[in-house]
Amino acid sequence: MLNATKMLDDRQKIVDKFPRFFKTDPEFSCGPGWYPIVEELLEKVLKDLPEGMDPPEIAQIKEKFGALRIYFVYYYDMMFALVQEAECKSAQICELCGKEGLFFVHNGWWMTRCDECRPTKQQT
Ligand SMILES: [Zn+2]
Repeated sequence: MLNATKMLDDRQKIVDKFPRFFKTDPEFSCGPGWYPIVEELLEKVLKDLPEGMDPPEIAQIKEKFGALRIYFVYYYDMMFALVQEAECKSAQICELCGKEGLFFVHNGWWMTRCDECRPTKQQT
C-alpha cells in the first residue's frame, strides 16, 4: 500500500535536492513511482545546461492521460529531447510503485500500472 507520509517525504527530497527548479512551489502531483524519472530528468537538465545559464523553473509536474508530464517555465533547446524521453519512459513504469508497468485504459481513465497495482474488476 502507498504510504502518504513517505510519499511526501520522497517528493520533498527531490524538491530539496533541486531547489532552483522549484522556486515557485509548482504543482508536483504525479505518483511516487515516477519520482526517479523526475529526478533523472532534472539531473540531466542541470548537467547539459548551456554555459552560465540558470536552470528554468518548473511550472507543473503531473499525470496526464496516463503518462508523466513535466512543464517548465521556459526551455533551452537541449531540454526538449530530455523531457520527451522522461515522458515516454513513464508510460512503461508503474506510477504508483516504480516497477515495470503497462499503459492501458481502465473505466475511461488512462494509466500506467504494474500487474500488482492494476485496478481489478472487483473495484469497478
Ligand atoms: Zn505498481
